[in-house]
Amino acid sequence: MGEFDLIAHYFTRPVRPGGAAVLGVGDDCALLAPSPGMQLAISSDMLVEGRHFFADVDPEALGHKALAVNLSDLAACGARPLAFTLALSLPRVHEPWLAGFARGMWQLADAHGCELVGGDTTQGPLNICITVFGEVPSGEALLRSGARPGDDLYVSGTLGDARLALEALLGHTPLPADVLARARQRLERPTPRVALGLQLRGIASSAMDLSDGLVGDVSHILTASRVGVAINVDLATNLIASSAHPSIGSSQFDTELSRRCVLSGGDDYELAFTAPTAQRSAVAAAAAASGTAVTRIGTVLAEPGLRLVDGQGRPVENRYASFDHFR
Ligand code: ADP
Ligand code: MG
Repeated sequence: MGEFDLIAHYFTRPVRPGGAAVLGVGDDCALLAPSPGMQLAISSDMLVEGRHFFADVDPEALGHKALAVNLSDLAACGARPLAFTLALSLPRVHEPWLAGFARGMWQLADAHGCELVGGDTTQGPLNICITVFGEVPSGEALLRSGARPGDDLYVSGTLGDARLALEALLGHTPLPADVLARARQRLERPTPRVALGLQLRGIASSAMDLSDGLVGDVSHILTASRVGVAINVDLATNLIASSAHPSIGSSQFDTELSRRCVLSGGDDYELAFTAPTAQRSAVAAAAAASGTAVTRIGTVLAEPGLRLVDGQGRPVENRYASFDHFR
């Protein structure tokens, strides 16, 4: 199978009539027609073998994740997904792998009405780069820069299970098989919180998605908004789903491991966002409308810096740096 057969077979579908894509795969450019009054929201994420995933990962999960991490960026901006491009570097054409990858990718794309409109395909080390295009009413995108002192800090869903799975797969932390299976789902098949992001427009004062770890990622909101925050570590640490699993003994699962996974974990693809205290019931309604749990874990402060406190308000030493490719 050659390059063009591969594209035609796995990555070409007619564009949806009435959708934002006017022209899809096959020409030199795709054409998108965003609705009047909307701004385009654009983001790219690259996944590199050995860096972001294991060589033997299930290709279907990889197809899901490659798109999911991009949709998560749209979610963080409160943008509705429209379309995406796929730049793929493959060592060789292995049809079962391509079929699995395409299946995982199409399933998630269809669930969000997001169309594949183009890309590039070359031979080389396995590397997947997706660019997503979404739309948001002009001026309504959720940004990192809008947090104000006194706002509440929230996170969606659960945190830390992806990191726990990674530690177990690397042989650092033994886990019962059923616990690992569940945590591994979080690592390999993250859920982009698109519906929540849309609901939070006009309610959240700032937002971002959590890809590199709570502490480091929230620091980006602090920098962009020129504020500080106090995070209740005990509330945050409760958000690791694996610790509530009946097969986990407390001896296997100490507080330090939970804190490390939740605070510096990464790969969660949940949303962190701030909102004025006057919006508490609106945040609860947004969570309910999107079917996504949200938990209030902190308070934005005027004084810069990220402080960790325990449930009694006592300071907790911050040893929870985020992942950085070049450190
Ligand atoms: P060009 O030479 O103009 O860069 P290509 O020959 O690389 O175009 O690709 C032909 C068409 O197939 C283009 O419309 C391109 O967007 C599309 N395409 C290439 N690779 C992919 C892919 N992995 N997924 C979707 N579309 C692709
Ligand atoms: Mg090309």
